[in-house]
Amino acid sequence: MNPDSIIAALFPPTCILCGAPGALARDLCGGCAAELPRNRQCCARCALPLDGHLPDGALCGLCQRRAPPYDRCIAALRYENPVPTLVGAAKFRGRLNAARLLGQLLADRVRCEPGPWPQVLIPVPLHPSRLGERGYNQALEIARVLARELALPIDNHVCERVAATAPQAGLDEHARRRNIRGAFAVRGPFHWSHVVILDDVVTTGSTVAELARVLRGAGARRVEVWAAARTP
Ligand SMILES: [Zn+2]
Ligand SMILES: [Zn+2]
Repeated sequence: MNPDSIIAALFPPTCILCGAPGALARDLCGGCAAELPRNRQCCARCALPLDGHLPDGALCGLCQRRAPPYDRCIAALRYENPVPTLVGAAKFRGRLNAARLLGQLLADRVRCEPGPWPQVLIPVPLHPSRLGERGYNQALEIARVLARELALPIDNHVCERVAATAPQAGLDEHARRRNIRGAFAVRGPFHWSHVVILDDVVTTGSTVAELARVLRGAGARRVEVWAAARTP
């Protein structure tokens, strides 16, 4: 027996959402997988969920008025039930199998999108004080899954969170932008030209936009955002 099959025998895949046996060797059953709110109808630039039948390349009103500082965002799921449960498990309860499942779902989605492929994944960094509280960075845990599934490297050191910002939740768009300004810094030489910022959930996009600006300032020419979920 190889180590993978021993692990599978000891810990059979179990659906995180309902407890049924998992399908496709994942911690998600077929029924729950079919009901996940996939973010198929969305803005081609920022992945904001949109309704109705859209032509290819349709943009949301915000991106029509002013393009965000990243080239595109790919988000696998809409942040609607039961996605907050999965994200909450990955973020606050140290459930690494939830982070793994989110990474697998994002990898499925990324594989369907046209290239070119990025050179590197850069998880949104946590401030050391937050990292100390939580013990791990959920964006990095999701990035590890993508790195494995898509054979891409992670650069977890080039960018740091230099300011411990207040949580973005509860702030409006303008306050979020002001809150996050100056939060990130690139350390040392920057060799990447096509990068992906990786996050668990993109809400208004002000955090990833700020990081995209910093990475462009450091020399990145193409910046994408990949996220497990996007809020409507
Ligand atoms: Zn299930
Ligand atoms: Zn948009």
